[in-house]
Amino acid sequence: AENTVILDGTGVKRALTRIAHEVLEKNKGVDGLVLVGIRTGGVHLAQELGARLSEIEGVEIPVGAVDITMYRDDIKGHHEHLPVGKTELPFSVEGKKVVLVDDVLFTGRTIRAAMDAIFDQGRPSCIQLAVLVDRGHRDLPIRADFVGRNVPTSRSENIMVAFDADNKPTEVILQK
Ligand code: 5GP
Ligand code: MG
Repeated sequence: AENTVILDGTGVKRALTRIAHEVLEKNKGVDGLVLVGIRTGGVHLAQELGARLSEIEGVEIPVGAVDITMYRDDIKGHHEHLPVGKTELPFSVEGKKVVLVDDVLFTGRTIRAAMDAIFDQGRPSCIQLAVLVDRGHRDLPIRADFVGRNVPTSRSENIMVAFDADNKPTEVILQK
């Protein structure tokens, strides 16, 4: 198997910093903004993004987590034994601008399910999507508003997003 480094540690940091600035530009600041990470990689990245937004704007940004295990339309009914993850939104999403955060965007089914989970909790004014890697192969009409890297892949390839013991992203590797 052949591995290609897509982003090294510095590259990941720069991508997240750029995305933080893009989020601020698109939303004209952080008013009414909340971050929701998709377990587990997306939550770590949402924390990183939140830290950058707080640093730039000087206010805390609420960060929540959704686990979409039970919502995946291609899993439902087939894997009842899967552990049920928790959706932890320690804030109301009603009327909020929600920025969904995930590590890798592939078919789009996880994001569709995450939007279902969010709408179960309330009605946001909008939902935007930030991903570290868009690897293509969408099955649904879903696209990311903020992308770290677009990485053309074959369906059999895998993107590895590595995190250290403190859940900080360390690198992104394409595994052939
Ligand atoms: P989708 O639902 O879009 O098909 O897949 C996206 C979800 O599956 C994300 O939550 C992501 O973590 C995971 N995923 C899909 N493909 C990859 C991949 O190549 N690498 C990693 N690390 N996660 C992936
Ligand atoms: Mg995931």
